[in-house]
Amino acid sequence: MTPSISNESIEHLKESVNIVDVISRSVDLKRAGANFKGLCPFHNEKTPSFVVSESKQFFTCFGCGARGDVIEFEKRYYNLGFSEAVEKLADEYGVTLEKKQGYEDKKRARYYEINKMAARYFYGNFTRGKNDGYDYMKNRGISDKTLKKFGIGYAPKGWTNLYDYLKKQGVSDQEMADLGLITMNGSKKYDRFRNRVMFPIINTSGKVIGFGGRAIAEGDSPKYLNSPESIVFKKKNNLYSLNFARQAAAKDGFIILVEGYMDVISLFQSGVENAVASLGTALTENQAKMLHRYTGDVVLSYDADAAGRKAAMRGMDILRDEDCRVRVLHVTDGKDPDEYVKKYGKDAFLELVGGAKTFAEYKLDSARQGFDLSKDDDKVRYIRKAAAVLASLDPVEQDLYSARISEELGVSRDSIMKEVQKEGARSARETAREPSAERAEEADDLTMREAYLIRIVSLDPEYIDKILENKSMLTSGLAKRVLNRAYTQNKKTGKIDLDEIIDGLTEADQKELIQTLQSVVIDEKQVEAVYKDLVDNWKIEELSGKEKEILTSLSLADDSLSGEKVKEFQKELIDVQMEIRKLRNRTAR
Ligand SMILES: [Zn+2]
Repeated sequence: MTPSISNESIEHLKESVNIVDVISRSVDLKRAGANFKGLCPFHNEKTPSFVVSESKQFFTCFGCGARGDVIEFEKRYYNLGFSEAVEKLADEYGVTLEKKQGYEDKKRARYYEINKMAARYFYGNFTRGKNDGYDYMKNRGISDKTLKKFGIGYAPKGWTNLYDYLKKQGVSDQEMADLGLITMNGSKKYDRFRNRVMFPIINTSGKVIGFGGRAIAEGDSPKYLNSPESIVFKKKNNLYSLNFARQAAAKDGFIILVEGYMDVISLFQSGVENAVASLGTALTENQAKMLHRYTGDVVLSYDADAAGRKAAMRGMDILRDEDCRVRVLHVTDGKDPDEYVKKYGKDAFLELVGGAKTFAEYKLDSARQGFDLSKDDDKVRYIRKAAAVLASLDPVEQDLYSARISEELGVSRDSIMKEVQKEGARSARETAREPSAERAEEADDLTMREAYLIRIVSLDPEYIDKILENKSMLTSGLAKRVLNRAYTQNKKTGKIDLDEIIDGLTEADQKELIQTLQSVVIDEKQVEAVYKDLVDNWKIEELSGKEKEILTSLSLADDSLSGEKVKEFQKELIDVQMEIRKLRNRTAR
């Protein structure tokens, strides 16, 4: 949860940086009349149709239609979320952002700071003199450059090295224990990580949130020891190396999900920079959501053993549920990606990626395991299992793969599809899907619109589905939490009990919600009319923003640009304006 940045701060940032400077760092811009022009970084082109206006602080590409302000540019170029882009720019241009910082935020900032001290300490041990950690990583073929890039460190032997160091820096025992840097056992305190190679885990905002420690001595167990969960380290909300991989993912168009730290690091060293690892847990829904923010295309590369296969199967389902395209890569010769890429290099590894199996292929392959398809008995059992897989696919895929199975087994497609329909009906009964409970990134305070929506849902539960269909109406984390709970409650009990939902919230959330709801009163007979107005007004807002953008874009066009895109923009403008007029007439009534 990042503290939200005030609107004033965002305006201040936009006034303090010049879009021409910012874009010039990555695009070669030449003056053209009142504006600047260059080759668009968002699509391939040979003649420049990317225009930047200094006076309007706006960019537009008349080739691919990309457009926006300086924050939009950073977002797109570096594949960042909104607040990440804001923070990056503020950092680089020395602009202070005002954040609404509460007690929790201050505590979190302090914990990040302590983790950073610990990371520096481990790194110091690793680089200053001879140590087992460094020797270990060198033996595994990792270069100094890569070690530095990932901030790898060493936790020495002995019981209180880190403890003594942090104590001297003024860190309290409780703080160290909260972060899992030490273990407290009565009056005894000792370092959690001893004689281990240390991998700092860094989130997408560049903060050290925890550590993974690899045992060095033979027989030390566990092989990998991670920081425990803390207020800054939530395993299910983070992925190792996503801070590096997301930018590569924007270029490559996909991300590779591997099992371990070493896989990520070896791949990175060999030039495959778009790999991430889940942190010693099975892939979670939140991690899948995070991945989807950066790319819709995920390649799973888990170990080929039984545990790896199982993890891959589950990971595929979760990613599919988040609308990702999923493929599974099998590293041949029973090697993990780390060994493979070291032995055969980047190109060979990318070839494997190219040949990765689709969701359907992998699932059907797995379903087939253990059956002898020359026996009728096994054939029938395999078809039942395959039908369950086919039932989870979309119609086009069903078509394709049922044809394949039919041909392969000499069974009619009709009978396969009948099995699929039976399966489909059963699984639909079993899994009424629930929307996710939590989000990786949080936005601002509850808006009045959201407060109205929450009130409406409590008066008539039927509205919950409609609202969740238009999820972008919701901007605050609090509203999303409340409405997701309302959804689940309604599914289970057929009604929505707002008091019960409020009871389940944190104290801060409770306060904010109750306070905002106080000023929302709706006549029960007016629910529908109020809802319609809310939605219409929201749409008008969205469209007006778009109208403004298109107008600005059009003002940047000059004669040298292809008339076609300009015409497209004009047409888009007319459509948007017509839509706005329609909505305005409706709400005026
Ligand atoms: Zn473009």
